[in-house]
Amino acid sequence: MSECNHDCENCSQDCASREGQSLKATLNDASHIKKTIAIVSGKGGVGKSLVTSLLAVSQNRLNKAVAILDADVTGPSIPKCFGVHDRLEGDGKYIYPSLSKNNIKLISANLMMDDETEPIIWRGPLITSMVKQFYSDVNYGNLDYLFIDMPPGTGDVSLTVFQSLNVDGIIIVTTPQDLVSMIVEKAIKMANMMNIKVLGLVENMSYAICPKCGEKLEIFGHSKVNEVAKKYNLDILARIPINQDLAKLCDEGKIEEVEQTYFEKVKL
Ligand code: ADP
Repeated sequence: MSECNHDCENCSQDCASREGQSLKATLNDASHIKKTIAIVSGKGGVGKSLVTSLLAVSQNRLNKAVAILDADVTGPSIPKCFGVHDRLEGDGKYIYPSLSKNNIKLISANLMMDDETEPIIWRGPLITSMVKQFYSDVNYGNLDYLFIDMPPGTGDVSLTVFQSLNVDGIIIVTTPQDLVSMIVEKAIKMANMMNIKVLGLVENMSYAICPKCGEKLEIFGHSKVNEVAKKYNLDILARIPINQDLAKLCDEGKIEEVEQTYFEKVKL
């Protein structure tokens, strides 16, 4: 038997992990998305949500129509970064995204809670079916880009997103202290299994600039991202420094006011 690629729809093998029904979540008639990009990381706290937000802001500034699907359901930080608190609306047919100041469409479980500070303590199957609904039942309208902020790692929800949603490519976020090589290799293997393109790497918290002397400090040690990018033939899309202003803008819900997105020159 050939190696399982988790694409039951296009496979005739009757193996133990075969799923009976179609795994695909399809877009509704009101939504037309040119490109869907998932932002992944090996672990939490490396700045994946910040990078997702910066990517969305960079494309929004180019007058592209952009939405973010916050699939990091148990650690949702996208609404906070944009200072959005308006709850998602529904009319029985569609769910409607909440809008940021500059009209970036946001979909997050946190925008469904009565109290945003309440933790989401759901089991895996509930979370995965919600993420599918966030794709198929939302009226996204016409979009140039849908960015999906993935949960860290290669768990249940990640697998569902890659199997069920029409993802065109992934962007991998790492930091210098990450076990970059292993994380990148895992992400590449997962993407390959699902026939999804790896669009490139982002190194976050790459360095810091001393505010007194301007020296570039490698706080987390020397970066290995160049070697890894070369080994796997990947582009480095951005290196983002540790920058207090970025954290502050995120905390205050003002990420759209960021001066530099670090993705100004990136072609997606
Ligand atoms: P993840 O989505 O990977 O869990 P977040 O994007 O939520 O990580 O980032 C974790 C915390 O680190 C947030 O408070 C965020 O504002 C902060 N942070 C991320 N990247 C940077 C950076 N380059 N400079 C300063 N703070 C950062």
